Amino acid sequence: MRGEAPAAVSPPVGTLRAMWCLGCGAVRSHPVCSGCAARLRPAPVRWIRGVLIRSAFVHEDPARAMVHRLKYRAAPPGRLGGLLAPLIPDDTTSLVPVPRVWLRRWRYGVDPALELARSLGRVTGLPVVEALVAPVWVHRRAGPSGQARGLPRFSRRTAVPPGAILIDDVVTTGATLVAAAAVTSITTAVTLTAAVR
Ligand SMILES: [Zn+2]
Repeated sequence: MRGEAPAAVSPPVGTLRAMWCLGCGAVRSHPVCSGCAARLRPAPVRWIRGVLIRSAFVHEDPARAMVHRLKYRAAPPGRLGGLLAPLIPDDTTSLVPVPRVWLRRWRYGVDPALELARSLGRVTGLPVVEALVAPVWVHRRAGPSGQARGLPRFSRRTAVPPGAILIDDVVTTGATLVAAAAVTSITTAVTLTAAVR
């Protein structure tokens, strides 16, 4: 949480980090340097169980490194949301981030989808609605009666406005987005990267 960091330390550090390329760490190249930008590969649109998933980039370096910096090093996304803005449907009314399970949020000090949604909200002017609540933890082993392995069980905190879309940092199998869509009745998701085979 940006607002909870010690005031004496966080402003200069945050300012400096917000200047880095999120792909390679080069200074004064935020959000991505020209070298990384040239290597980013657009991801195809996918439909997974009724959810339209639009992703900016294929999940390979340097896009994978961007996600890693957001997820595990709490790098501020800054203006990164600008790269997602072209993927947002015209009739979108609000952005609903897919929350990280709480134990990971505590461990890494950041919820990357929330930060990405906030960055996108700053660019587009769309409100961020934290409508979903993540579970504390997701068991890695398969549950009883064939329950999907590692699938978060989201609950809904608030009403979801018509025209809302889901925001997440990365999509792999799509199971997490499908679970979030089922709770919110949202049918469109936008992610920074997509692991495509
Ligand atoms: Zn770079």
